[in-house]
Amino acid sequence: MSAPHTAIVIGAGVVGVSSAYALARRGVEVTLVERRDGPALETSHANGAQLSYLYTDALANPALISQMPKLALGLVPAFRLRWRTDPDYLRWLGGFIANCTDSRFRKNTLTALQLALESRVAMEELTCHHDVEFGFRNAGKMHVYRSARAWQAAQAVAAMKAQPGVVQRALSLKQAIAIEPALEQAADGILGVLHSPEEAVGDPHSFACAMQDLLTKQLGTTAYFGRLVTDIALRDDEAEVVLDDGDRLSADIVIDCSGAEGGRLLRRHGHRLPIIPMKGYSFTAPAVDGSPSVSITDVEARVVFTRLKAGVRVAGLADLGNADRSIDGKRMATLLETARASLPEGAAFDEAAGFWCGLRPMTPDATPRIARPHPRLAYNLGHGVLGWTMAMGSAERLARLIVN
Ligand SMILES: Cc1cc2nc3c(=O)[nH]c(=O)nc-3n(C[C@H](O)[C@H](O)[C@H](O)COP(=O)(O)OP(=O)(O)OC[C@H]3O[C@@H](n4cnc5c(N)ncnc54)[C@H](O)[C@@H]3O)c2cc1C
Repeated sequence: MSAPHTAIVIGAGVVGVSSAYALARRGVEVTLVERRDGPALETSHANGAQLSYLYTDALANPALISQMPKLALGLVPAFRLRWRTDPDYLRWLGGFIANCTDSRFRKNTLTALQLALESRVAMEELTCHHDVEFGFRNAGKMHVYRSARAWQAAQAVAAMKAQPGVVQRALSLKQAIAIEPALEQAADGILGVLHSPEEAVGDPHSFACAMQDLLTKQLGTTAYFGRLVTDIALRDDEAEVVLDDGDRLSADIVIDCSGAEGGRLLRRHGHRLPIIPMKGYSFTAPAVDGSPSVSITDVEARVVFTRLKAGVRVAGLADLGNADRSIDGKRMATLLETARASLPEGAAFDEAAGFWCGLRPMTPDATPRIARPHPRLAYNLGHGVLGWTMAMGSAERLARLIVN
C-alpha cells in the first residue's frame, strides 16, 4: 500500500501537534481537528512543564503494593484511588497491579526511558531547525528524598538506567545546596538528592501554540478549532471523520491523539485501549528570591516545582480513576499546603494563580500506545505522567509507522 498523502489528526494537545509536525515534515498534508478553541487547552495546558527525559520510573512499582490499603482508604493526601465498578476500570487496575513487580517495573521504566531519549533528540532537532518559542531551557532537575528506603531505591534505579546519555548523580544535601541554594530552606529531613543536570523545562501551552503556528504558516497544515469529532469511518479508499455539526472531512488516514478520552472513537472499530484518567492539579506563583532555578521534585510529597518565565509552576496530586474536569477546591488547597511544607520560600504562594487541573491518560504499564491497526487508522495515546516529555519521540515513532 502506498504511503498516505493526507492525514487527519484528532486532538491538538502536545501529542497531537507533535504528531502533526512529524507527518507534515515528511510531506504529508495534515488537517488538525480540535474540539476546544485553541491548542493545548486540556491536559497539556498547565502541567508540570518538565521535560523529564531521565526520570521515567513507572508508577506501578513493588513499593506501591504495600501502600495500596492506605491508598484505598484515602490516607495518602497526594494519591487517591477512586473505586469504580465498570469492567474497563477493574481490568485496568488488575493490569496495573500485575505491573507492580520488580521485573515489570524494570522493563517499563527502561522502555519509557528509550522513548524519552528519542524525544530529547527530536526536541533538539526541532529547536535547531525552527524558531519555536516556549521557554525551553536546560534547567537540570533534582529529586529530593527524605526516607532512607526511598533514597536507596532511587540510587538502585539510577544504576539500572545507567547508559550513554543518562547523566544522574547522587548528591549529599550540602552538594545539592551548592548547586541550588533554594534547597537550603527545604533542608529538614532530606537524606539525599538525585541530580540530573541535563533535564529541560518548557511551557507546554506555548509549545503547542508555537507548533500550530509553524504547522499552519510553514508546513501547509489546516487546523479546525472548536470542532468535536463524533465518529471515524473507514473505507478501502479513504478515512473520514464526522464532526458534531454533521460535516465530514476525509483523508488517506485518521490518527487519534485525543488524550484522556482514551480512544473512545476507536471502540467502534474494535480497539479497546487500557487508558484511564489520573487527575492532577497545578498553580503558578510569582518567583521570589528563594525560588529554585533547577526543577525540584519532592518525591515523597509528590510535588514538583518548575521555574518558568511566568513564575514557579507547582504541580502534583494523583487521583486515579477521577474523570471530573472541574477543580476541587479542597484538592487544590492540599497541593498548596504540600508545596508550602516542601519548599516554604519557593514562591509567593499567597499570590498563586492559574489554578488548573488535568487528566493524565494512564496505561497500566506507563508506556503509550502507538499503533496503526488498520491501513487508514492510527493512534498515539496513553502518555500518562510523561506526555509532554514523550510527545516528540512518540510522534516520530508514529510517523515512521505511516511514512517509511
Ligand atoms: C498535574 C499534571 C502535571 C503534569 N506534569 C507533567 C510534566 O511535568 N512533564 C510531562 O512530561 N508530563 C506531565 N504531565 C502529563 C502530560 O500533561 C500529559 O501526558 C499530556 O499533556 C497528554 O497530552 P495529549 O496531547 O495526549 O492530551 P491532551 O493535552 O488532553 O490533548 C488531547 C486533545 O484532544 C482533544 N480531543 C479529545 N477528544 C476530541 C474529539 N472527539 N474531537 C476533537 N478533539 C478532541 C482535546 O480537547 C485535547 O485538546 C502532567 C499532567 C498533569 C495532569
